Amino acid sequence: MSLPAKGKICVVIREHNAEDFEKAILQNRDNSDLMEFRLDYLDSSQLNIKQLGYWIAIAGLPVIATLRRKPFGGLFSGSPNEQMDIINKIQGAGFDFVDIELETLEVINSEQLKKVRAGSMQLIASYHNFKETPSNLKSVFKRIVAFRPEVVKIATMALSFSDNFRLIELISQATELGLMIIPVAMGELGVYSRVIAPSRGALLTYASSQIGQETAPGQFTALGLQDVYQLNLIDQSTLIYGIIGCPIKHSMSPYVHNYAFQKVGLKSCYLPLYVPNLKEFSSYLESFSGLSVTLPHKESILDYVGFKDRSVQESGAANTLVKRIDGIWAYNTDLEGVRFALRDVLGHDSSCRTVLLGAGGAARSAAVVMKESGCDVTVLARNQRKAKLFARDFGFSFGSLDDVGKYRGDLLINATPIGMSPANHETPVSEEALNYDVVFDMIYNPLETRLLREAKKKAKIISGLEMFVGQAAYQFHLWTGKDISKETLREVVFGQLRNR
Ligand code: NAP
Repeated sequence: MSLPAKGKICVVIREHNAEDFEKAILQNRDNSDLMEFRLDYLDSSQLNIKQLGYWIAIAGLPVIATLRRKPFGGLFSGSPNEQMDIINKIQGAGFDFVDIELETLEVINSEQLKKVRAGSMQLIASYHNFKETPSNLKSVFKRIVAFRPEVVKIATMALSFSDNFRLIELISQATELGLMIIPVAMGELGVYSRVIAPSRGALLTYASSQIGQETAPGQFTALGLQDVYQLNLIDQSTLIYGIIGCPIKHSMSPYVHNYAFQKVGLKSCYLPLYVPNLKEFSSYLESFSGLSVTLPHKESILDYVGFKDRSVQESGAANTLVKRIDGIWAYNTDLEGVRFALRDVLGHDSSCRTVLLGAGGAARSAAVVMKESGCDVTVLARNQRKAKLFARDFGFSFGSLDDVGKYRGDLLINATPIGMSPANHETPVSEEALNYDVVFDMIYNPLETRLLREAKKKAKIISGLEMFVGQAAYQFHLWTGKDISKETLREVVFGQLRNR
C-alpha cells in the first residue's frame, strides 16, 4: 500500500494479547493515517504471517512493523540476530515499512540486512535516546544514512525547547538526500515537534491508541491530534499559538482556543508548551502569532516584551502576548475575566466590602478591578510582608489569612489555589466563617470547590470558570479581532472536565 496523500497520524498499537491488539486496530483505524504494530509486545506465537496479514488487512492503512529490543525502549529480549530472523520470517505478511534500530543494523551481518532489503518493506532506520537530544545529531544522522534506508527516524528526549527546532532542522537535510524522515522530540518539552514537524515535511507523527498507551513520553492520542489539533490541516501557512507555563499538562486553554479557531474558520493551531526555562524559550517568542502565559511566568515574561498594555502596567503581570508588526505586545486579560465574573456584582454596588484572599498574580488582577469599582477591600495572605506591600500598592487594608474567620463583607474572593484539584477537600474559609452575600472562587477545577459548595447554602456563588471564559474570549479577540461566545467556551470546558 502506498503512503496516504496527506494524513500523517501514525497510531501505535501495543497490546499484549491478540484480542486487545485487534480491538485497538479496529478502534483507531478511522483516526489514523498509518499504523505501527509493536510486535515486541506480542507473544512469539502470534508473530506469524497469517495472523499479521489479517491485522494489516483490517487496518486498511500502511503499517510499520517494529520489534524493538529492550535497550532501546522495547520489550524484545532476544539478540540482534534473533530480531532479524523474526523480521525476515514475517516478510510476507504485507507490512509497508520495517523499523530497525541503528544499533541492530550496526551489529548484524550484511546478509541478514540484504534479505530484508530484498523484500517489499521499506526500511526505517531508527535512533532513540531517552536521556537527551545529543549535541552530535548530525553525526547520528550520518550513521543512519550509511545504511541507505528509505526513512531516517531520530527520536530523542527534549531537554530544552530548542531541541524541537534542532530536530526539525534535520528535515531539510533528509530532503536534500531524497530521504523521508521522522524527527521526534520526546517528553513534555517536545510537544512542538510532535504537532508541527509533519507540516514541515516529516513523514509522520506517532500517536497513542488511547490515554495510558503511550510508547514514548509526550505522545498525544490519535483522536486528540485529529480532533483538537486538526493535525492534517496544519501547513506552513497555519498560524501557531500556544500557552507557556510550568506545569501545563492540565490546562484547558488548548481545548478552548483550538475549538474557537475551528469555530470561526481560522487556520491556526494552539499548543500546550511546557516551558520551565523562560530565558531559553524567549528566543522563540517571535515564532508564535500569540501566546497565553501562565504560572510561573506571568511577571518574568515582561522582561522580554516590547510593549505593555495598560492592563499590564496596572497589574504588573501579563497573561497574553500578541505579535504585531511593531513587536510583541503584552496584555493581562485576567482583568477582563474578573470584570466578566463579577459583572452582576460590581455593576450594582460599587462600594462593595470585599475580602480578597491571596496576594499573587490573580489577586492583583482582581485588585485592579476592585479599585476601579471603588470597592472597600481587605487583602488577607499567609505572608504578611507580601500582604502589606500589596495593600500599599492599591490603598487597601490587609491582614493574615489565619484570621479569615474574623472578617465579613459583601464579597469574598479566593485568589489562592486552596481547594484546587487534586486537593478538592481543602477550603480557605471554614463553613461557619462564611459571612458574605457573594463568594467568588477563581479556581475552575473543580468547577464547584468545597468553598463554593458550602457557601451556596447562604450566598450567591461564582465559579472560576466565569473568569476563565471571560479572559479567554478577550484573549481570542486580541489575537484574531473576532468574537467567540463565552457560552461556547464554557461548554468546551464542561465537556473536557466531564471526560476526566
Ligand atoms: P500565585 O501568583 O502563585 O498566587 C497565589 C497566592 O496564593 C499567593 O498569595 C500565595 O501565597 C497564596 N497561596 C498559595 N498556596 C497557599 C496555601 N496553601 N495557603 C495559603 N496561601 C497560599 O497564583 P495566581 O496566578 O494568583 O493563582 C491563584 C489562583 O487563581 C489559582 O488557583 C489559579 O488557578 C487561579 N486563577 C484562575 C484564573 C481563571 O481564569 N479562573 C486565572 C488566574 C488564576 P505566597 O505568595 O505566600 O506563596
